[in-house]
Amino acid sequence: MSSNSNKVAIVTGASRGIGAAIAERLAEDGFIVVINYSGSEAAAEELARKIEERGGRALTAKADVSDVDAVRRMFDAAEAAFGGVDVLVNNAGIMQLAKIADADDAHFDRQVAINLKGTFNTLREAGKRLRDGGRIVNFSTSIVGLKLETYGVYAATKAGVEALTGIMAKELRGRAITVNAVAPGPTATDLFLNGKSDELIDRMAKMNPLERLGTPQDIAATVSFLVGPDGSWINGQTLRANGGMI
Ligand code: NAP
Repeated sequence: MSSNSNKVAIVTGASRGIGAAIAERLAEDGFIVVINYSGSEAAAEELARKIEERGGRALTAKADVSDVDAVRRMFDAAEAAFGGVDVLVNNAGIMQLAKIADADDAHFDRQVAINLKGTFNTLREAGKRLRDGGRIVNFSTSIVGLKLETYGVYAATKAGVEALTGIMAKELRGRAITVNAVAPGPTATDLFLNGKSDELIDRMAKMNPLERLGTPQDIAATVSFLVGPDGSWINGQTLRANGGMI
């Protein structure tokens, strides 16, 4: 039996993209998974069904991560169903692009609300409620290092997430809980692909020396390492998973 058996992992934004691949991978690793989503109910239910067909255990939980009460209710539901929570993967996020000079207030407020406040909301609950020995994985982006034009507000929210990561790792001293961030490069999901020309996608794919886009499974494998037994000595770090782009 896997050492992850009966451990409970909440994966935010797990209805689609990288989060769905993480939920699938953690279920294969033996975790009971809570599949959080905000809008894509059918996709979340379908993923839960797939995991259960393969012998895993999964619960779907609708919660907009920017909504404090909804986040609390999600933790309540996980605890009621499974007795506690061991792992939080803060994957939910949105990306909007605009030059800083052209960005309107909604562009700023929405990305801050979901990417930064959303991560804070779940971290606060996890800090109070995660069982000792647990794991937290936040989501940043390699753009924090690359500093590409038009990514200003998005990158700023993720730089904030990196700061929360390092500080919370220290604040959880004594509880054997690690807190890390994964910072993917371009990864083939709606968030990256939507609105980009084939030419731009190809150019961005070739920015790394492996000359391809990341897949959701590449990133899920990174998370699997961090939350599994082999990741136990990695703490307070941001791990760039990008094929060597930066
Ligand atoms: P995606 O394909 O757009 O999927 C986003 C997921 O987040 C969906 O499941 C969506 O669920 C959920 N979500 C969005 N807003 C939410 C909210 N307010 N509350 C709860 N869930 C919400 O994005 P992705 O590419 O998988 O990105 C996942 C993470 O990786 C993000 O944090 C992103 O910033 C980061 N990242 C991605 C890339 C990339 O190239 N793809 C690169 C670097 C970092 P619903 O449909 O149900 O709303």
